[in-house]
Amino acid sequence: MSDLRVRFAPSPTGYLHIGGARTALFNYLLAQKEKGTFVLRIEDTDVARSTQESVDAILQAMDWLGLSYDEGPFYQSDRFDLYKEKVQQLLDEGKAYRCYCTAEELEAKREAALKSGGKPKYDGTCRDRQDVPEGQPYVVRFRSPEEGVTEFNDRIKGKISFQNNELDDVIIQRTDGTPTYNFVVVVDDATMNITLVLRGDDHINNTPRQILMYQALGYSVPEFGHVPMILGADKSRLSKRHGATSVMAYKEMGYLPEAMVNYLVRLGWSFGDEEIFSLAELIEKFSLENVGRSAGVFNPDKLLWLNAHYIKTGDPVRLGQLLQEFLQKDGIDTAAGPELTAVVKTLQDRAKTLVEMAQGAAFYFKPEVEFEPAAVEKFLTADKRPVLESVMRHLDSIDVWNETTIEAAFGAVMEETGLKLGKIGPSVRVALVGGTTSPGIFDVLAVLGKEASLKRLQTALARLG
Ligand code: GLU
Repeated sequence: MSDLRVRFAPSPTGYLHIGGARTALFNYLLAQKEKGTFVLRIEDTDVARSTQESVDAILQAMDWLGLSYDEGPFYQSDRFDLYKEKVQQLLDEGKAYRCYCTAEELEAKREAALKSGGKPKYDGTCRDRQDVPEGQPYVVRFRSPEEGVTEFNDRIKGKISFQNNELDDVIIQRTDGTPTYNFVVVVDDATMNITLVLRGDDHINNTPRQILMYQALGYSVPEFGHVPMILGADKSRLSKRHGATSVMAYKEMGYLPEAMVNYLVRLGWSFGDEEIFSLAELIEKFSLENVGRSAGVFNPDKLLWLNAHYIKTGDPVRLGQLLQEFLQKDGIDTAAGPELTAVVKTLQDRAKTLVEMAQGAAFYFKPEVEFEPAAVEKFLTADKRPVLESVMRHLDSIDVWNETTIEAAFGAVMEETGLKLGKIGPSVRVALVGGTTSPGIFDVLAVLGKEASLKRLQTALARLG
């Protein structure tokens, strides 16, 4: 075990987003690589927007991606007493103060500041207020230093400094008594002994405020690393306009978790010009030094390409289990059909997603061939009777049914009819499958088995009239 302690701290206000998943992955990989500890913390202080459904969705997505954590999930909603105590500590030490300014007053101050060209920052009206207005609602603000500089050495972006006078006196406790993000994140990261806060760079402006709070609370300050955002093709922040942004939506669309992991890691991290990484390789090779400083652009084509790669090279037994779910969703009963593993093997080279594979596999399992009229019109014409009969006869005489014996049977058909395979194959395919696209017909015949194959050919022959 090393001393490294990292965390992923999602807010359960929706599904696990591509960007969040990448942050989780980077933390996971770093912890694995350095034999540190990966903590999961659910940031549910915003009670109105947090839901159990979102918590479940996030946990499920992490599980699907294989991002296991060593500690947690911890819930901020279980820790309100601790936060209260820490707010009180800052109040007692004069490092925070009660602010009684009303929303209207604050809005008026903001407008006035903007008008005079200043920053719309809290003007400090209540900073040194001594009276305690009875029954009046208040927030608690952190007393930010008026001078000096707060800086940190970002593990990804290098040295970053902020002038303290640019920083607002942030609200750490709302009028309803609930603490705010910037405060609880500090209390949690400190009390959970996080040594490196690795998160999206949308939080970079929060970091100096948080550092000041660590100091005010007497905690040691962790290291920080801010991972650049993910953008859409038009270089605006990745959003639904660019396609699905939920990790689990990709599962539904027939993506494999290893493709998603491989894709996510390359959005911002590189290792020479290598593209394909298993999780084990990533654990060995990942480092923050190779995380880029500029934003990654989400490229759905590349994700699809990786998915096709993992389908092509995947274990057919496992793919068969996954495929079954997709077939079931399409209402297809696989119980009576051929072996799923054998079916998968005929489709691995062709299907880019499990959804495509399920579409391509459906014909194996449907009790009746669904004929496409155009294919029938072209390839199941009356003049095909002699050749289909010849095919049936030679297939029927096979004892040991496999691709080699099937190929030999077609050799005999070609000899008998004087036709090339290109003239025979398409009709056989339409007879077996109903349409003109499918895996190679020898494969299809081998997988369907002798009885089902002959039955399909027989049905097609009957249609010839
Ligand atoms: N809960 C915050 C979010 O989901 C993360 C905060 C952090 O990583 O510090 O954006």
